[in-house]
Amino acid sequence: MTGDDNPILARLNQEILTCTLCRLSEGRTRAVPGEGPVPSRILLLGEAPGKREDELGRPFVGRAGSILEELLSSIGLSRREVYITSINKCRPPKNRDPKDDEIAACHPYLERQIDLLKPQVIVPMGRFAAREICRSFGLDEGKISDIHGKILHARAGFGAVIVLPVYHPAVVTHNPNLRPELTADFQQLKKALDRM
Ligand code: SF4
Repeated sequence: MTGDDNPILARLNQEILTCTLCRLSEGRTRAVPGEGPVPSRILLLGEAPGKREDELGRPFVGRAGSILEELLSSIGLSRREVYITSINKCRPPKNRDPKDDEIAACHPYLERQIDLLKPQVIVPMGRFAAREICRSFGLDEGKISDIHGKILHARAGFGAVIVLPVYHPAVVTHNPNLRPELTADFQQLKKALDRM
């Protein structure tokens, strides 16, 4: 089942598309609720939509999306097999970092998505998503450079969940040296899935 076929998620998506809870609603073209199967074994979580995502209303469709698809392919997955969303559903102006009050305003949508999707593995990509998920599950927060690629164990309302922070795929567009580490992060995801 996809999000479009699931009536509860369809209603949640509709709320997100018309949401005005924070200032990011003012500059967006479209909110980007996310997409993927429901339920979903894997939840990938970015920071916020970029220009292309804002135009199309879909997550990870720009350059970072191509890199993400390559990384998924390297471990035998396609984007159709994972749910992809972000901690903020609307694009910050000029792709600036999301502010704390914007992340907090959007957080209840993420919680509702997690409850519906019941993922076994949550993969926060980049420092903002990693911080938000670690806080949300009461895990120790650390710098993304310290915690990326580490398998963390948490408990959600529906059961045990693995949290596996990784670098954000966009990082290699301005720092290609991090590509091997990003690839290794996704190999860790494969290892975690193989053990399930
Ligand atoms: S970022 Fe989240 S809280 Fe802010 S307007 Fe968009 S959907 Fe609403």
